[in-house]
Amino acid sequence: MSQPVCILCAYYHPKAETHLASWSQPGRQCCSAGLRRLEHELVSLRAAFQRLQEGVGAEPAAKDAVSQLLPGAPVPSPSNQPSVSGTKERRLPIDVTRVDLLLPAGGEYVRDPNRDQTGNLSVATVLNEWVAAWHDRFYSSHGYPRTDAISLIDWISGHRLYWVAEHDEAITDFAEEIRDLRSLLAGALGEVEKIPVTMWGVPCPKCQLVSQLELNPEDPDHYRICISCGAMLSRTEYMEHLRSIVDQHRS
Ligand SMILES: [Zn+2]
Ligand SMILES: [Zn+2]
Repeated sequence: MSQPVCILCAYYHPKAETHLASWSQPGRQCCSAGLRRLEHELVSLRAAFQRLQEGVGAEPAAKDAVSQLLPGAPVPSPSNQPSVSGTKERRLPIDVTRVDLLLPAGGEYVRDPNRDQTGNLSVATVLNEWVAAWHDRFYSSHGYPRTDAISLIDWISGHRLYWVAEHDEAITDFAEEIRDLRSLLAGALGEVEKIPVTMWGVPCPKCQLVSQLELNPEDPDHYRICISCGAMLSRTEYMEHLRSIVDQHRS
């Protein structure tokens, strides 16, 4: 009953244990589907970070917010009146969340002279903590990457991701932080996060309940997962399932 389950899939698909138990290879803590999912999340994070950096947000204000980051950038007056010295301090037209997220690694917060930790840690700061730990533990003889978010993501991606996923149990904590960062970036970009799509009217082949199969758009393997019983269908299995339903109705 309690076969080892790939720890990444146990995190991404907590209900689908039965199906996934058969995927886990002895002595391995991650299966290839779990690794693909994590890789996909990193690629999405990288793309979202670039969109925020380039100011290509869904809201037109995004570009202005980013331009405010430049040293010496003028702070526009909120009204049409010219700014007069001696007037009370204007509220900066900066979206603090965006600015926080784009800051370089180092754990500094925008407008937080007292270090009240009201803002978000920057993407680079969070990533740099993981890179520092993994560099120490596994790659101390390698050079250290640049500590901007994109360079850190690129350093983690590829063969290093496969290695650390297999050798660090905290990889699910990493997966969770990547997901949190993506949510924050989506919020800062004014983008709506993709939510699972329900396969309306389709019965689950295992528990027979209707409209319980869901497709998570973030899953690069396009599994349909039953939210009631945890059954997990690959794209091929799902298509075969649909075909068998059609055949039943014909006969
Ligand atoms: Zn897995
Ligand atoms: Zn089911």
